[in-house]
Amino acid sequence: MAKSPETEHPNKAFGWAARDKSGALSPFHFSRRDNGDNDVTVKILYCGVCHTDLHTIKNDWGFSYYPVVPGHEIVGIATKVGKNVTKFREGDRVGVGVITGSCQSCESCNQDLENYCPQMSFTYNSIGTDGTKTYGGYSESIVVDQRFVLQFPEGLPSDSGAPLLCAGITVYSPMKYYGMTEPGKHLGVAGLGGLGHVAVKIGKAFGLKVTVISSSPSKEDEAINRLGADSFLVSSDPQKMKAAIGTMDYIIDTVSAVHALFPLLGLLKVNGKLVTLGLPEKPLELPIFPLVLGRKMVGGSDIGGMKETQEMLDFCAKHNITADIELIKMDEINTAMERLAKSDVRYRFVIDVANSLSPP
Ligand code: NAP
Ligand code: ZN
Repeated sequence: MAKSPETEHPNKAFGWAARDKSGALSPFHFSRRDNGDNDVTVKILYCGVCHTDLHTIKNDWGFSYYPVVPGHEIVGIATKVGKNVTKFREGDRVGVGVITGSCQSCESCNQDLENYCPQMSFTYNSIGTDGTKTYGGYSESIVVDQRFVLQFPEGLPSDSGAPLLCAGITVYSPMKYYGMTEPGKHLGVAGLGGLGHVAVKIGKAFGLKVTVISSSPSKEDEAINRLGADSFLVSSDPQKMKAAIGTMDYIIDTVSAVHALFPLLGLLKVNGKLVTLGLPEKPLELPIFPLVLGRKMVGGSDIGGMKETQEMLDFCAKHNITADIELIKMDEINTAMERLAKSDVRYRFVIDVANSLSPP
């Protein structure tokens, strides 16, 4: 018989978990493995709240495996390092993102693309390389193979830097891979949430002109005056959408719900590229005519490899890019999830784990 989460490993652990698709999170006792020779044990300070956490606790994709302890935007302190660990010392400030394991020998892993390894394990709701279930960052600590631990640059604050570990790399990687970084080109960012607002900042750091395409008119002022976007389009305003047809070189689409691609494809110039990053629970319709008639391209992208994630953190430290956050206590998480579902967050919730998580 399978061991209980509380007894399968030697070290007691505590966090908050969802037990079913209601998504309600509540205190949860489980356990963590001993720190192995290649492992780093991380005391968690902060953890961002990604929309993927919400999709997973609600079982939007049909593969949630309860109990789920979400959280994959983790910043903390290394409290133990194994004897083979060369990159980290006890006391270092470190990051852990979406990936905590991969085969480390396939074509993807050999190209620093662990994010496309067929055996990649996610930080939560996954089976780890030791064959046991993974639990994420809404918890006091985590044990991770050194390959999947990041050096957290000195200049980055732990709380507002945490969201870069998923939101940051998820927008940075496709911009690099698809060649969406040429200064002066025009980037559209669809959906101004966690991923979207970081895309605006990274786009500006690359020297792009950035237009936000949003379903929330109330975000216009902040998009321009706080986040640095050049312009703002409300997707439900047919006149403004029409006037913007054929003006954009690239679009990063971060919308988390089912939505029409047709209006977005219309905004692209000939040869324009749209990268979809959002993961709605149902397929999107792909209109072929605008692709064919304008030699346009639609692609996707999944987070990023470890080397590129480190590069992105260093880039953000250099350009003073952090997330705009609302810091919450652990016991405020259920309200935060309700607000996230309504796109009512400016622009990422981050849990103050170390100061608000205590076993009952
Ligand atoms: P988020 O903070 O909730 O932002 C999503 C934004 O999409 C919202 O703020 C909203 O922006 C827009 N939106 C939501 N519902 C909409 C609707 N019905 N119609 C039109 N627009 C809507 O979420 P996030 O954390 O940025 O994540 C976004 C998506 O990316 C999620 O599906 C998540 O699972 C996925 N994701 C993918 C990867 C990857 O590697 N590819 C990594 C992380 C997350 P406006 O108010 O501006 O319209
Ligand atoms: Zn995420």
